[in-house]
Amino acid sequence: MKNKEHTRQVRDTVVKKFKAGFGYKKISQALNIPKSTVQAIILKWKEYQTTANLPRPGRPSKLSAHTRRRLIRDVAKRPMITLDELQRSTAEVGDSVHRTTISRILHKSGLYGRVARRKPFLKNIHKKCCLKFATSHLGDTPNMWKKVLWSDETKIELFGNNAKCYVWRKSNTAHHPEHPTPTVKHGGGSIMVWACFSSAGTGKMNKIDGKMDGAKYRTILEENLMESAKDLRLGRRFVFQQDNIPKHKAKSTMEWFKNKHIQVLEWPSQSPDLNPIENLWKELKTATQVIEDDQAKRGGQVYTTNLRGQVPPLVTTDYTVQDQGNASPRFMRCTTYSFPCTADLAKQCQVPLATIIKPFATVPKNETPMYVVNHGETGPIRCNRCKAYMCPYMQFTDGGRRYQCGFCNCVNEVPAFYFQHLDHMGKRVDFYERPELSLGSYEFAATLDYCKNNKPASPPAYIFMIDVSYANIKSGLVRLVCDELKTLLDNLPREDGAESSMVKVGFVTYNKILHFYNVKSALAQPQMMVVSDTAEMFVPLLDGFLVNFQESRAVINNLLDQIPDMFADTNESETVFAPVIQAGVEALKAAECSGKLFIFHSSIPTAEAPGKLKNRDDKKLINTEKEKTLFQPQKAVYEQLSKDCVSQGCSVDLFLFPSQYVDIATMGDVATHTGGSVFKYSNFQVERDGQHFLSDLRKDVEKAIGFDAIMRVRTSTGFRATDFFGAIHMNNTTDVEMAAVDCDKAVTVEFKHDDTLSEETGALMQCALLYTTISGQRRLRIHNLSLNCSAQLSELYKSCETDALINFFAKSAYRAMLNQPLKTVKEILVNQAAHMLACYRKNCASPSAASQLILPDAMKVFPVYLNSLLKTGPLVGSAELSTDDRAHQRLSTTAMGVEDTQLLLYPRLIPLVRQHTRHSLLDVVPTPVRCSEERLTDAGMFLLENGCSLFLWLGQACPPEMIQSIFNVPSLAHVSIDLRSLPELDNPQSQKLRSIVDSLLDQRPSSMKLMIVKQKDRSEIMFRQHLVEDKGLHGGASYMDFLCYVHREIRQVLT
Ligand SMILES: [Zn+2]
Repeated sequence: MKNKEHTRQVRDTVVKKFKAGFGYKKISQALNIPKSTVQAIILKWKEYQTTANLPRPGRPSKLSAHTRRRLIRDVAKRPMITLDELQRSTAEVGDSVHRTTISRILHKSGLYGRVARRKPFLKNIHKKCCLKFATSHLGDTPNMWKKVLWSDETKIELFGNNAKCYVWRKSNTAHHPEHPTPTVKHGGGSIMVWACFSSAGTGKMNKIDGKMDGAKYRTILEENLMESAKDLRLGRRFVFQQDNIPKHKAKSTMEWFKNKHIQVLEWPSQSPDLNPIENLWKELKTATQVIEDDQAKRGGQVYTTNLRGQVPPLVTTDYTVQDQGNASPRFMRCTTYSFPCTADLAKQCQVPLATIIKPFATVPKNETPMYVVNHGETGPIRCNRCKAYMCPYMQFTDGGRRYQCGFCNCVNEVPAFYFQHLDHMGKRVDFYERPELSLGSYEFAATLDYCKNNKPASPPAYIFMIDVSYANIKSGLVRLVCDELKTLLDNLPREDGAESSMVKVGFVTYNKILHFYNVKSALAQPQMMVVSDTAEMFVPLLDGFLVNFQESRAVINNLLDQIPDMFADTNESETVFAPVIQAGVEALKAAECSGKLFIFHSSIPTAEAPGKLKNRDDKKLINTEKEKTLFQPQKAVYEQLSKDCVSQGCSVDLFLFPSQYVDIATMGDVATHTGGSVFKYSNFQVERDGQHFLSDLRKDVEKAIGFDAIMRVRTSTGFRATDFFGAIHMNNTTDVEMAAVDCDKAVTVEFKHDDTLSEETGALMQCALLYTTISGQRRLRIHNLSLNCSAQLSELYKSCETDALINFFAKSAYRAMLNQPLKTVKEILVNQAAHMLACYRKNCASPSAASQLILPDAMKVFPVYLNSLLKTGPLVGSAELSTDDRAHQRLSTTAMGVEDTQLLLYPRLIPLVRQHTRHSLLDVVPTPVRCSEERLTDAGMFLLENGCSLFLWLGQACPPEMIQSIFNVPSLAHVSIDLRSLPELDNPQSQKLRSIVDSLLDQRPSSMKLMIVKQKDRSEIMFRQHLVEDKGLHGGASYMDFLCYVHREIRQVLT
């Protein structure tokens, strides 16, 4: 007898529970229905994304059987026919129906619109030749094939007439002759490469510059062929394979082979499938292509976080998030969304298990706001055993009187005030009214227990500390800062809806000694107090140092007017640094509040005081065992200072204006342990760099931020957080302390197994961040995320995210370089990558020739990012790079989120001029192209951005009219490369370009410095460093060379 069907509501509940991370067994127990029924409901929902009853056979088709058959026949005859064409032809025979009806009928017959494979056009004669070739070689021994050096040329990029074309076909019929779109050799103007390999491995790879002809081909052979044969140990009597295009068969080429005594394999025409090298080309994907594909597939869509283990769109894709029980990918992103069940599997694949958490990420206005939940005097409800906070993974039982913790399984009593009845599906009646039950991210109001010394927190304070030594006065920096602060202080951060900011402000100037200012509103004039004993720092005044800007505006403006003049005649060039930070901490301590120091500093602190530094820049150390010392902070003074800052909730933002080495590794140390940032403006000139610096300062002062934060990541049983990377401080192994955390700072958390994970319950994590708001309230920000677990490694590889992986690799490599030689760090990186990819090959890919490079889909472009990472300043080890620049990049990357590392390691190269309309710019921000010199054109104009720098590259043959409209000068030669902003001219070209530049600047956390670069000019060097697919300027392989290298490494792992 058939069991009674469950109501839709029951089925909904089953799905809800499943989405919340519960397994079949638990759902079955909670709802008292058989496990098999639960399974059936979930399966159906997984397949159809609905719990509704599926339509029964339904009403008779509008189309006659005859017309239906005709449709299928038409499609079979002409696979490239479009739906519109089909609709028209059906209408002609009197059956007028909608397009969807037609496509439904075709789907029923297994015909789907699919991308046509690109294959050369085969004539019958070609087929016959192939067959002849195959039969004539049937008797060949494997040893004979081992002697063959295969070669081919290929286009790396698909564009122009290589665009996708859709055809109607059934699965697995991609290679049928009617289906592929014919391709013609030499089509389009894209880049070509030549490469070769044998059964022993890959040989040389060569980029073909310009059009390939016989002479060029011979040069390539000359330079690569013999050497490849030697590398691959083919011996003298190897057989060379090439295809039959004319330049290969040219008389002079054939003579070349003859002279070199090279035997050439006879080869049938138009038969690439016979050549195993085709398999290698397939794996060459470009990052831009992957980005574009994801944007096309998922761009503009709503991403609903209701599913466990769901892989979000790429960081580069535009999407809208709807929070339905898991944190938005803006807050948390993972290296993989399916963890392996056991530690053994994790070890085997070597894919790092990590989450990158950006707790204060900016959320667009149209997405779920951060609700604040108040559980009253007793504070937020937490599990008694593991202390996890109330969240969607808690399962209510016993009529609502108890709940079982999803993290540790402990059964807790529901406090009386929180009791709520369950509906007949076991869901609390108030489910949708309570963010902590239905959302992935929300906040709790914290009680006094969560405050320091059980006293309510105070609003934070911002202290501006200006180095008034000779260099800063002379450059005009001091005046610039003081002038800016007069208006900037009106924009201090405030709570939504608040009339003014509660953040207090204070001012210090310094050189060898420190000057504090009393700016109490009651004063007619600001008062200065000097502290010259920098060994024992103290704050000479309490009342009147930290004030409300609105109240003290007159006194403060008075002070800001006076400061540049007070020190106008200074000769003092020595400065202190550690005592400045110490003074800031002491001031906050005295005021019992947290806050941030904005330090504007120019030189290495050489004055006699704690934290005095020596110049220790030594290029001779590069590429030696001791290179790491260049990046280790110098003195214990700074380590202690970081601790003091963190325990007071004092974040340090350092604005540096060096004209020579300042030891950023040491000076930036406190900033990068207190959730702060280091900004660097080398050889600062007010006229040139002033605007760039001021926009950084504005963004920094105004941005959303939390203070005195402590973060804890809880996990369900079986795994736990073991390592943390970020602008953080760790006093023990679990609590991540951050003096402050702003909207751009991310913490990368690594996880390890300590038991077996179950596929049924998955892997749950909860990030809880306790912090003080800018108005002085103590809050808890909670982010929950549930991942899948699988005993199949293929699931893990399917759910990987390259951008998150590379974030983890960058941070862990940059940390490792403090303790290990760069060479070792790089070897470890490549090794781990090769292991990851080899394990996929071994366990997940279908069997194929060893020579074939096979990468998991989700990691197709991982090598290009990894290669780029290996070429970054910190890891490259070149004496041509400044030590400070390298240290700076190392420190800034530590706190980056996935968006920032993605852009840093694969900059956007944006073509501004369309090829055929040379004289006008594109309207919207154009689609970026591959980051390679190959894409630059003499008549072109390109923007390149990586989040830190923005270059405007001008081709030599850039039309003068364009130069005139943008720069207001007659020719390229007149354009000054010292420009840091574009002139504001009243013409469409100038307006378009400026609006593109502005929109890029707007999207990035810091204001990028704009640099004008002319083709073949000295200024091009800086720019070329960022063309990450090319050979590195300071060492490092091109993408293709690196791919071959990785391929070799993978094969080594496999043998
Ligand atoms: Zn618990």
